[in-house]
This record gives sequence, structure tokens and C-alpha cells, in this order.
Amino acid sequence: MNQTVAINAPEYVKHEGLKKWVAEIAALTTPERVVWVDGSQEEYDRLCQELVDAGTFVKLKKRKNSFLACSDPSDVARVEDRTFICSEKQEDAGPTNNWEDPKKMRETLNGLFKGCMKGRTMYVIPFSMGPLGSPIAQIGFEITDSAYVVVNMRIMTRMGKDIFPILGTDGEFVPCVHSIGAPKAPGQKDPRWPCNPTTKYIVHYPETREIWSYGSGYGGNALLGKKCLALRIASSMARKDGWLAEHMLILGVESPEGKKHYVAAAFPSACGKTNFAMLIPPAGLKGWKITTIGDDIAWIKPRKDKDGVTRFYAINPEAGFFGVAPGTNDKTNHNAMASLAENTIFTNVALTDDGDVWWEGMGPAPAHAIDWQGNDWTPEIAKEKGTKAAHPNSRFTAPASQCPCIDKDWSNGDGVPISAFIFGGRRASTVPLVCQSADWDHGVYIAATLGSETTAAAFGAQGVVRRDPFAMLPFCGYHMADYYNHWLQMGSVTTKQVPIFMVNWFRTDEKGNFAWPGFGDNARVLKWIIERCEGKVGGVESVLGTMPNYEDIDWTGLDFSKEQFNNVTKLDKETWLSELAGVKEWFAKMGSKLPAKLAVIRDAFETKFKNS
Ligand code: GDP
Ligand code: PGA
Ligand code: MN
Ligand code: MN
Repeated sequence: MNQTVAINAPEYVKHEGLKKWVAEIAALTTPERVVWVDGSQEEYDRLCQELVDAGTFVKLKKRKNSFLACSDPSDVARVEDRTFICSEKQEDAGPTNNWEDPKKMRETLNGLFKGCMKGRTMYVIPFSMGPLGSPIAQIGFEITDSAYVVVNMRIMTRMGKDIFPILGTDGEFVPCVHSIGAPKAPGQKDPRWPCNPTTKYIVHYPETREIWSYGSGYGGNALLGKKCLALRIASSMARKDGWLAEHMLILGVESPEGKKHYVAAAFPSACGKTNFAMLIPPAGLKGWKITTIGDDIAWIKPRKDKDGVTRFYAINPEAGFFGVAPGTNDKTNHNAMASLAENTIFTNVALTDDGDVWWEGMGPAPAHAIDWQGNDWTPEIAKEKGTKAAHPNSRFTAPASQCPCIDKDWSNGDGVPISAFIFGGRRASTVPLVCQSADWDHGVYIAATLGSETTAAAFGAQGVVRRDPFAMLPFCGYHMADYYNHWLQMGSVTTKQVPIFMVNWFRTDEKGNFAWPGFGDNARVLKWIIERCEGKVGGVESVLGTMPNYEDIDWTGLDFSKEQFNNVTKLDKETWLSELAGVKEWFAKMGSKLPAKLAVIRDAFETKFKNS
């Protein structure tokens, strides 16, 4: 089985190190052929047709150039317990990451990758995270045996041969190796979603900046530019080089007077980033306009302007949205619906009889559909058996350029200046609608102790409150306490401290219904935040920080009483004391690296709550 595979590098590939690496991976994985992806429309169309022929894609009759893929039930979400940070020393991965000795892991992966692309095409994908040539951008190469990954990467990143002039003959790149882990014998027919249902590894070597992913074809496990490069590897680069790689949306907000701010907000997976990034303010907030820079990841670097002021500048390293489908509709997120009108790949939603897609919360249910697992679905079946037409973590992959409210600077490689940071989670109780931290360190504390109910975006139990610091628990590529330290230090890098806010759209009433209307009405909270940044609006000091008085929020066009407002903002002493006890346990896990400052802030909160 000692065959050599010709790598067939096109003439424009002049980087010897790259060719050597591709040859090594080809020799290890022994694919049938190697294809260098050029990123063209013809190539995309051809691969989509191949996926249709293979039964992975269904072409949608009702949506131009759009497709539906339904995955293996073992492959529907990120696999956090199979995700590893393999730093040389275990303590550098910290208590929140799975760690394995890099030598041992390389042995394991060498075993798994040996011959794993047999009978398949090995694609070499050149891509840039961030606008081509931006000083903040990074180049990556993903090797994959999945055409589904190639076409998704074309939407999610700047992909194709335009990368090579920037790479040059010896430019740096992050090597990413991906296999679905399903070698194919001659003549063997694939299931509709080939993957390895039992063995999955998502592995990062932060010191050598390499990514290896095995067994899954899905989203964050397989599109390696996204969570693996742009968050786990980038967060470790950012710590070294003095910047931030964050699980944050970036939006622009323009006041009726035409003053524009940008804010970056971190919420855990499936907790509202995509919706917030492109929200439409309610009619009552006349003249307020929201534009989108990004919906999931922000790379943020400090830069000194001509006026001598150092600010944080942020780019969206991605080029598309990998958005949660369920709950998305014309009312909740009109801009997302418009973004996926064409040229979109849907994963794990239902197929309607007229050749369109449907998911729970999209609109009126069809009388009949094929659910994501390929079974007949009707509203009656759903009622009887409780089966969902779409998987709760079903997704759309859509080009960001199709978003009606995309910001004119979304592809500006210089980035946009950040006026405020927002952190939020999904909390049925405890956490108020909005609160401004006293200063940077308090803000870091709030983010460092963020709690959120788990969602379908990752395998595991759902609806359980867990600490998800900075919404980065699954994405921080190093020791969480070192990350806390990095954030504390970044506070003094800018000339003026950037204000930090916490929000919670998900408080429920005694019946379990959401007590806050959410979605577009979140613009009311955003307006208060912007006016706080400008020193234009009041607030009231609470134990936690500054909260709006009822009168400080613009309620025009919304019937929301003082009592209702009280229900979404009140701080309950007992639940906060138990929250703070949970924080104490969490901090204990961080060990000796925990910044002393954060423990002091926690203790002070506890004293204040006890005396309140
Ligand atoms: P992301 O994964 O963080 O980008 O979150 P999404 O914006 O995709 O939202 C995840 C889920 O939460 C979807 O089902 C949304 O409909 C729902 N959601 C988003 N924003 C709100 C909100 O303000 N209130 C409520 N109740 N649900 C929301
Ligand atoms: P999300 O992105 O944050 O939009 O859910 C995917 C993920 O984080 O798994
Ligand atoms: Mn995410
Ligand atoms: Mn999202």
C-alpha cells in the first residue's frame, strides 16, 4: 500500500513548504486524487452537482442555487468532549480544555489518518480569515476529503487562488487537516452523509498552530477556519501578540442625528448573536439604524489613530453566516431570511413537498414534509410523537454579502472602532436585562463569570446553567485564567477604557414564558447602551452596576409596564448569593493562575449582596 499520490499542484502554487506539507498529508491519507480548489463559481457549481449526484445534497426547487444536506444523527453539533488543546504542557491548556500530550496525540492521529481518504478526493482549500491582505487577516489551508466542507468554506471564508499572491513563496499559513474518517473501497456506495459515527477528534496544537479534525463533517467540527482557527488557534496567537480573538458579533448603530458607533457582543452558541447582529429596531425608535459587520467572530486589535488616541479596531474574519435555522422567520430576523433567499446551503432542516425548506418557527407548518432524518413529517405526527421537522441545531450557510443590512465597511481590512462590549447569556432568572459595569475590571469579572443554559449547538444535556466565560468556554485555546489576565491587561491598552455591559434577553415569568419581547425590541436596550457611551442618559446604581431606570429606556410603540420592567431587572438576593457561591467554585477550578483582582471583586459583590 506504499503508493505515492501525485499532488498536481497548479503552476501558480510557488510555496515549497506548502507543497511539501500537501505531499506529506497525501502520502499519509492515500486519497484517489488531489484537487487544488480555485474558488470559482464553476467549481462551486460542479461540486454542488456532485453532492446532488452522491445523494448528500437535494437541490431546492423553490430557492435559487440552494441546497439541503441532512447529516448522520451522530453528526449534528460540535463535539466538545472530543475537542483537544494539545499544548506541550497540560497547564497551558488549563482546566477547561481537554488535553493530551502532543506526541501521544500525533501517534493516535497518525494511526487514524493513515489511508483514511482511500477512494476519495483530497481537496486543498486556500482561504483567508479576514479581508484579503488585511493586516489583521490570517491565511489558512484546509485539506479535506469532504466536498460539503469545500462548498461551505467557499461561503464562510475568502477562499480560492487569490490567496496565492498574498502567500508568496514563503508566507505563513495555518495548516488544517480534515477527514470525515470514512475510507471507501472500490465500488462501495456512500450513505448520504459519510462520516465516522463512533470516532471523532478535533485537535489543536497551539504552539505549532496546527489543526487536525477527524470523523465529523459538521459545522464547527469540520469548517476549520471558523471555531478551530479563528477562535482556538487565534485566541492563543492573540494572547502572544496583544490582540483579541473573540466569540462576538459586531454591529454598527447609527442614531437619528447620524452618529455611528460599533459594538461587539459575546453570547454563547445559540444565544442570539446572529439575531442581534442584524436586528431591525422597532418603528417606535425612529431614525435608529443597525448594520452588520459580523455575527459570530471578532478579531480585535488596538491601533493608534492620527488624533493620537488608541482604539480597538475589529474585523469579522468570516465571509458568511452559519446561522441557527429554528426560530428564524421574517418577524424575528427579517435580514437573515433575506440573506438566505438564494445561494444558501441548509443543513438538517425539513424538505417541503414543493421543494423548499422548513423549520420550527419559520412560519405556518406545511401539511407534509420530509424531516431532517428522512422520515415523513406532518403536524399530526409531530403532535403525537413530538418529532421535530428540523434538528434544533439545524443551520443555514449564507453569504454575508447577501444581508440587506450589511455594513458598508464589513470588508474593510482596517476594521471598525469599538465603542462598547456586551456580554450575555441565556438565563431564565438571576441576570437582569441590562447592567453596565463600574469599570473595565468589573466588566472582565462579569464576562469571566458569565453563566448560560446549554443549547443544541453542542452535544450534551441542554438547558443546564454552566459557566461560559466570555462565551468562550468551548473556544479558548489556552488556560482560561491566563485568558482572564490577558483581558485585564488589554483594558489599559486603549486611551479610554471601553465600557462593558451585560445583557439577558431570556428571563422568564412564572409561567415559563419569556418576560422580555426580545429580538427587535433589544434595540431599546442597545439605545440605552449607546446613550450611556455618550453620557447622555441616566441610570441607577445597583449592587451589580448601573442599570436603567424605567424612564431611561425608550418605550415608544411598546406596551411594557413598570412592573414588567421590574420583573426583568430585579436582583434577587438569595439567587445572587447562590450564583456567587457557584462563582467561588469556578474560580477555585482556575487554580493559582486566577487573577487576584477577580476574587476580590467577587468577595466585594458577596458582601454587598449580603448587606442589601
Ligand atoms: P447565535 O447562535 O448566538 O447566533 O444565536 P441566534 O441569533 O441564531 O439565536 C439562537 C436562537 O435564539 C434562535 O432560535 C433565535 O430565534 C433565539 N433568539 C435570538 N434572539 C432572541 C431574543 O432576543 N429573545 C428570544 N426569546 N429568543 C431569541
Ligand atoms: P453560533 O455558531 O454561535 O452562531 O451558534 C456556531 C457555534 O458556536 O457552534
Ligand atoms: Mn458561535
Ligand atoms: Mn449565529
